[in-house]
Amino acid sequence: MKILVTGGAGFIGSHTTVELLNSNYEIVMIDNFSNSNKEVLNKIKIITQKDFVFYEGDVQDNILLEKIFSEHNIDVVIHFAGYKAVGESVKQPLKYYENNLYSTIELCQMMEKYKVKKLVFSSSATVYGQPDKLPIKEDSKLMTTNPYGTTKLMIENILKDLAVSDETWSIAILRYFNPIGAHESGLIGENPKDIPNNLMPYIMKVATKELDNLNIFGNDYNTHDGTGVRDYIHVVDLAKGHLKACEKVLKSNGIDAYNLGTGTGYSVLDLVNTFMKVNQVNIPYKIIDRRPGDIASCYADNSYAKEKLNFEATKTIEDMCRDAFNFIKNS
Ligand code: NAD
Ligand code: UDP
Repeated sequence: MKILVTGGAGFIGSHTTVELLNSNYEIVMIDNFSNSNKEVLNKIKIITQKDFVFYEGDVQDNILLEKIFSEHNIDVVIHFAGYKAVGESVKQPLKYYENNLYSTIELCQMMEKYKVKKLVFSSSATVYGQPDKLPIKEDSKLMTTNPYGTTKLMIENILKDLAVSDETWSIAILRYFNPIGAHESGLIGENPKDIPNNLMPYIMKVATKELDNLNIFGNDYNTHDGTGVRDYIHVVDLAKGHLKACEKVLKSNGIDAYNLGTGTGYSVLDLVNTFMKVNQVNIPYKIIDRRPGDIASCYADNSYAKEKLNFEATKTIEDMCRDAFNFIKNS
């Protein structure tokens, strides 16, 4: 079984490629390294002791895509490639609409041409915007609060139209909650070059003393300790969810969306305290104003993924904190 992984050198794509190789899938990968680096490819090979085919380039490049699809009999495509920084998307919306939408459209056109109609797509819990009810179910209303989120929702709608137009398509939309952690080998993980926007990468830069202290965005939310609550999921669990989604699209047609989360919410202070305890490091923090656009709580109802994909996350918040820091200490 041959899987094309777009954006496979990135944070989630690299972990998913490891799990796929470990399960004996053949991998063809494309990445333009716009948010990753070449060393990751070797690290994946070291972890798995397996090889894969790699193409350096842009998913928007249809000449390259044509070459890939004509050289390989692809069974399933997992589409990770895209930009993901919420703040940057507010400042540079066209960059986000261009990359995220065009790359998906080019990819689907090539898939259609080569009759490869099985797709797993990386969406996000951000498509739920301000949820009315917790935990969040897949049939909650969808709305977005920033251009990044809008690209995800627009792509979900494009894929739904595609599935309606031709019932031989089989598409799994995966709505990730908050992926953190790293592979337990410490060889791959997430280490953004710039000052991070997300909580866990920021905590790690404080732990390594690259940044002085964490700013906690508000402690006056209606949550158990006043700080924001999110559904953190270990990236290796998330990666395994993609294997389940591949199995699903291989055996049935149509389109469906699945939440990939643990179903449990942890606050900012829960995560900071666990990180300090597990890793025996100090994370100095200050409480500052709420971050504009943030919501108090967001966590998944994961029963649909359990029922339809047979997927359930197993790693704990302690695993996430330990593995994330282990990777940073190794890099
Ligand atoms: P990432 O930035 O680490 O990985 C994305 C990869 O895609 C990078 O290696 C980048 O170089 C590559 N890429 C981007 N545009 C490309 C293009 N046009 N052609 C070829 N390669 C391209 O991000 P990630 O955290 O691994 O996220 C993967 C996907 O999951 C993204 O679509 C993201 O929006 C989505 N997602 C991520 C999160 C998260 O918190 N990390 C949450 C929800 C959804
Ligand atoms: N957060 C914080 N300080 C930071 C980054 C994030 O207090 O430097 C909080 C944020 O307000 C939210 C939680 O941590 O309650 C998770 O934020 P993140 O940006 O990682 O994920 P998202 O808000 O996109 O779910």
